[in-house]
Amino acid sequence: MNVLLTADQIRDRVHALAAEVRDAYVGKPFTVVGVLTGSLVFLADLIRQIDLPLQIGLIAASSYRGTATSPGELTIKDDLLPDIRGRHLLLLDDILDTGQTVTRLVEHLRDRGAASVRVCVFLRKTGRQRIPFEPDFCGFTIPDAFVVGYGLDYNDEYRHLPYIGILAE
Ligand code: 5GP
Ligand code: MG
Ligand code: MG
Repeated sequence: MNVLLTADQIRDRVHALAAEVRDAYVGKPFTVVGVLTGSLVFLADLIRQIDLPLQIGLIAASSYRGTATSPGELTIKDDLLPDIRGRHLLLLDDILDTGQTVTRLVEHLRDRGAASVRVCVFLRKTGRQRIPFEPDFCGFTIPDAFVVGYGLDYNDEYRHLPYIGILAE
């Protein structure tokens, strides 16, 4: 495993991100919506550093890709989401790759009556984005490689690693 981001680097960055996020939600009915399963580790670390009242919601999105690299249909499951009408949401995802997942989820959450939806991605991959979209908050920009750890999986493994690594082939 080739370590791209160490646990120390991640901790420092998440600390700074939490301060940015906090400032954006002071005084608002605030719900953090994590995208299953990849955002769980990030969500747990981030929310513990935000000293504001907040609710947590979870949403699942799976894409069935025609090929491994092109966006396909996205299926959204939101039965684990509390009532978000009138609430200001922060959608958290592990990684922004083509941009399909977050742009579709933002649309979905707006349709469900959220007062506002902002997006925070832990990682953003360069050179892969197909859908024009700017996340409001981003942890790290990384090169185009397949990464695992800190919530991100390969075949549902490696999510528990405290660092971000590039799998050796
Ligand atoms: P997008 O819809 O932006 O193309 O894809 C985002 C989703 O693809 C992420 O939520 C994640 O599940 C998966 N993904 C994209 N790149 C990687 C990667 O490098 N590693 C892992 N583990 N998952 C990735
Ligand atoms: Mg995902
Ligand atoms: Mg995955």
